[in-house]
Amino acid sequence: MAFDHYGRKIHYLRISLTDHCNLRCVYCMPEDIVFRPNAELMQDDEILLFARLFASLGFDKIRLTGGEPTIRAHVVDLVRGIVQTPGIRTVTMTTNGLLLAKLARPLAEAGLKRVNISMDTLDAEKFRRLTRWGSLENVWEGIYAAEAAGLTPIKINAVVAADYNREDVANLARLTLEHPWQVRFIELMPFSGPTAFQTGQMVTAAEIQAGVESILGPLEPVNGGELDGEARLYRLPGALGDVGFIASVSQPFCVACTRARLTADGRLRLCLLREKEVDLLTPLRSGASLEDLRRLILDGIWEKPWGHALADGVIPLNRAMSEIGG
Ligand code: SAM
Ligand code: SF4
Repeated sequence: MAFDHYGRKIHYLRISLTDHCNLRCVYCMPEDIVFRPNAELMQDDEILLFARLFASLGFDKIRLTGGEPTIRAHVVDLVRGIVQTPGIRTVTMTTNGLLLAKLARPLAEAGLKRVNISMDTLDAEKFRRLTRWGSLENVWEGIYAAEAAGLTPIKINAVVAADYNREDVANLARLTLEHPWQVRFIELMPFSGPTAFQTGQMVTAAEIQAGVESILGPLEPVNGGELDGEARLYRLPGALGDVGFIASVSQPFCVACTRARLTADGRLRLCLLREKEVDLLTPLRSGASLEDLRRLILDGIWEKPWGHALADGVIPLNRAMSEIGG
């Protein structure tokens, strides 16, 4: 089992399969970003070895992310390999959905349980502006393919940026009236890359909720207002699905954190919003034993920072979000 020195049991690993992406969302990366050469990224056998290693330390839940995980070569085989790792109980994925029309069924057959699909607006023009060239129609095809393949319950992630999609939150929330989906609004977080954009365009969860309620009326708390993972859940009266708010910046949920992350280049990232990392890939490639690697992981987790210090102006600038895996 992996514990940090605050007594939190860490058993949920998010793996960034690649820092590369087929979109360039304005809040995530600059248009001219230079991705890492493939040789610097974890190779398939290295990812599977890390999955076994983390599972042997009590990690039972894995989310695959990126960058865009679906553009990784052999992604279906990778999912199958991770699903078959003894000790791993759930494998899920966060994706922009563009390739799900083709991949949802094979991924589900390989054992993937659920997907979170990013869709920040229902307006095709605004979607293009936010993603720089994405087609909203492809995302819709991906959502329906995921639902048909049983990758449910579908969760829709919507990052809110003040001058881009602030007016769209009610329309997104309205989706839950007719679909058993969870539409989750995410506060913008600052990283390396478009940092000024991320800090300047941030809308708080309370403001987003007020925007939804001003048009659709009061939301009812689900679970007595308790957190569901990182989201606080609400429901519109009579809705089939839930509306969630992820207030990572304004109301951090660090006390309940169970996560660690593996960056695309094989670094153990201990907190999304802190620069502290432990290099696992270089030792693996230099012949470290499994026992050495296990020790590196356990010592790293022990030192996991309590949480972020954005309120004190500490912004993690050593990486872009896409490399860490959101
Ligand atoms: N490409 C996939 C996608 O877009 O879903 C997976 C990777 S993406 C980095 C994971 C999630 O992080 C997405 O929901 C995305 O909208 C969100 N995200 C990206 N940059 C962010 C930022 N600066 N603050 C908050 N969320 C962000
Ligand atoms: Fe790509 Fe996801 Fe970042 Fe958008 S949010 S640029 S889809 S990694």
